[in-house]
Amino acid sequence: MRDDTDGLASAGPEFLNRLEAALPGRVTAPTDAYLTEARGRYTGLAAAVVRPHSTEEMARVVRLAAEARVGIVPYAGGTGLVGGQTAQGPAVPILVSVEKMDRIVEVNTADNVAQVEAGAILSIIHDKVEDHDRLFPLWLASQGSARIGGLLATNAGGVQVLRYGSARDLCLGLEVVMADGTVWNGLKRLRKDNTGYDLRHLMIGSEGTLGIITGATLKLTPKPVDTATALVSVAGPQAAIALLNVVRAHLGETISAFELMHRQGLEFLAEHLPQIAQPFAHRPEWSVLIEVGGGAEARMQERLETALMVGAEEGLVSDALIAQSDTQSRAFWDVREHIPEANRKVGAVSNHDISVPVSAVPEFVERGGPAIAAIDPSLRINAFGHLGDGNLHYNVFPAPGRTRAEYEERRSEIKAVVHDLVHALGGSVSAEHGIGRMKVDDLERYSDPAKLTAMRAIKAALDPLGIMNPGALFRG
Ligand SMILES: Cc1cc2nc3c(=O)[nH]c(=O)nc-3n(C[C@H](O)[C@H](O)[C@H](O)COP(=O)(O)OP(=O)(O)OC[C@H]3O[C@@H](n4cnc5c(N)ncnc54)[C@H](O)[C@@H]3O)c2cc1C
Repeated sequence: MRDDTDGLASAGPEFLNRLEAALPGRVTAPTDAYLTEARGRYTGLAAAVVRPHSTEEMARVVRLAAEARVGIVPYAGGTGLVGGQTAQGPAVPILVSVEKMDRIVEVNTADNVAQVEAGAILSIIHDKVEDHDRLFPLWLASQGSARIGGLLATNAGGVQVLRYGSARDLCLGLEVVMADGTVWNGLKRLRKDNTGYDLRHLMIGSEGTLGIITGATLKLTPKPVDTATALVSVAGPQAAIALLNVVRAHLGETISAFELMHRQGLEFLAEHLPQIAQPFAHRPEWSVLIEVGGGAEARMQERLETALMVGAEEGLVSDALIAQSDTQSRAFWDVREHIPEANRKVGAVSNHDISVPVSAVPEFVERGGPAIAAIDPSLRINAFGHLGDGNLHYNVFPAPGRTRAEYEERRSEIKAVVHDLVHALGGSVSAEHGIGRMKVDDLERYSDPAKLTAMRAIKAALDPLGIMNPGALFRG
């Protein structure tokens, strides 16, 4: 069964029979849905999909795989954007899905926590905790499909990181099946726990390379009862950052979203999703979507209006719309949230999920455009994202009427130009999507050597057989 190319064995019929005997009815052939991903860049390879119903069953799968030295690719909602959930071989692994472990075990309003199984879908967690007047403030366009195990494994971000932090900041405890099949029960609900190395933070963002997350204790917050949403036309990223500071001065830490959008994204939207109404009569070159929220007496709309008036007096605001109803607020968000879908319909030549210090965003945008144009002036750029976090999705598209396939040979050059610029500005080449299989080379190229050495040592210590998500984060 051994495949000498990487020391792992392929999951052959004999191994699959053993799995089926140990977990009757849990092992099936992989359908296309498990082997493809949103951007169509990767087609996965798997001998079977295993769907355990409990942590104990999950541990059994891992022990059997460790015994046979078969690779395991953890799988949650399949919405990852860096190929982490799509195995590539050469040895054929198994996909292990947490979808049958999707219970919301408890919502506890005294401790302000929810305990969930790893397969719980994010939007269902939102609904369940809202029934208790609480918020789980992790908010992203894939929330209808992404599951908490995958969201924690990738340390997902989204549109409310500015106020509430990323998945890491919203998790108090974890349960994980380690690479040897032992179970680490770390489902604590403590705000303070200084008892040595924090395994929770090691597992969060490890993208399935150290173990399989089977459960989590999530931090809840009170639901803001008074919110206000505005769509604001600004001259550019510099003005947008200055406006963020004005809004902050007036509304403090009540800002939950500050999203930048470029006209290119609005044009893709108009072309490919015309059913999404665009609130501005003329599509602005740059705009920001702002959301603020507070308690009952917070007067959010009035205070946001004042801040925007000050912004206009300072020449930062060209035009502003403040939502007058929940429906209007939803319509503003629809614009922002459908940009990724419109992008996918156009088909990017190269996508970049980057972050730089917030103050460096204008320089990044100013230098990025000419650098891409120097490769090919017909390329189009759609820059949008979480400006308050210095995180932009900086995606490069073909000229109108051409396809991404026509630019395939320029893709690595485009990526290198963008990532070199990010690195020069002290940024990160993966702000929120992770490394997966797509950015393994970038991790090697841009990481501090001491960090890489420590990462390899951790991997070797916790997964000495190398069975956990082979080929993700590190070369296979
Ligand atoms: C339309 C769209 C919008 C998006 N917007 C954002 C955004 O704003 N911010 C953001 O951060 N991301 C975003 N993403 C990316 C994606 O939703 C996140 O990466 C998400 O966290 C992945 O969750 P998932 O359940 O789909 O995991 P999967 O795709 O199934 O897996 C992702 C990775 O985690 C590993 N994994 C899965 N489950 C486990 C587990 N139980 N234990 C250990 N490892 C596991 C997998 O092996 C893989 O490496 C977006 C994706 C789409 C399609």
